[in-house]
Amino acid sequence: MSYTLEEIPKPIYEETNLKRRKTITKVTTYTLKYFTNYFIEKGFEWFLPVILSKSTDPLWPDPGTSIEKRVETEIYGENVRLMLSMIVHKMIISSLLTPKMFVLSPNIRIERRERAFTGIHCFEFTQLDFEIRYANSRDVMSLVEDLLNKYLSDIKKDLEYELKLLGTYDKITYYNSPFKVYDREELENKFGKKWEEKIKKEIKEPVWIVNIPREFYDFEDFETNKWDNYDLYLPNIGEVLSGSRREYEYEKIVKKMERDGVRKENYNVLLKLAKEGKLKSSAGAGIGIERIIAWVCGCKHIGEVQPFPRIPGYVFEL
Ligand code: AMP
Ligand code: MG
Repeated sequence: MSYTLEEIPKPIYEETNLKRRKTITKVTTYTLKYFTNYFIEKGFEWFLPVILSKSTDPLWPDPGTSIEKRVETEIYGENVRLMLSMIVHKMIISSLLTPKMFVLSPNIRIERRERAFTGIHCFEFTQLDFEIRYANSRDVMSLVEDLLNKYLSDIKKDLEYELKLLGTYDKITYYNSPFKVYDREELENKFGKKWEEKIKKEIKEPVWIVNIPREFYDFEDFETNKWDNYDLYLPNIGEVLSGSRREYEYEKIVKKMERDGVRKENYNVLLKLAKEGKLKSSAGAGIGIERIIAWVCGCKHIGEVQPFPRIPGYVFEL
């Protein structure tokens, strides 16, 4: 997707025709209900989000990250950050409390303003973030494939009228599972460094992209230099989910933090639990809710899913 200034989604109080936005609202309600029910039925526990914390996702080093400002503030004499993702909290919940968990986590990422025109970035968005103790990558990928296929076939039955109004009904279909898997190295060789842009235009069905070098918590095999992580790409929109098997061994996490220049003092609890052997191996992922809904609704910009769009570089009254 690409976007022009005139096409930036407006807040609902400036929109003259709200019919389309009302229809997107129906899809949003359906999607949230469907996804949360799916996880509950699979035995996951549902947690409420954390918003301010000393510890959050470093979002570094990830080639896809483009943060203009990290929001930190002082409360009760302590420095806290707005959640960039709940990865640290998820790893700890699934280690200590319940082996299967999910949360609808509001993330605040002040993306660089030029990202207004990618169509897929907002500065506030929601991840359906889940984590499974002792799971491997295939477990997570199979779960997501099953969820996506069931969701697409059910929404087509249940929201036929709405999807026809939005003009996407005929495009929504079932995809054969397992989805194709591409190695990031293979895509880099074929398309160069800008493979993300190319692949989303090329594909006709959902695909997995694996082995992407990024943050310390994604599992990396030091012998093969391969990363055990995965992103789900959908046609046109691109990345809608990122996940991985996680690191849980103290020595390895420390080594990676030092290598990447990540400040260990921001991860005291995670490191303490890892040192004590209380951090468990797990795998999980975060699904970008606005992106999935925008894809189903055929939105040119994911901000259309938000009544009060959070477009990078634009701060509206509401
Ligand atoms: P990440 O951990 O950065 O890969 O984020 C997890 C998922 O959240 C991504 O796969 C996207 O679906 C979604 N996401 C990430 N950044 C944004 C953003 N700025 N606006 C909307 N959705 C996002
Ligand atoms: Mg990602």
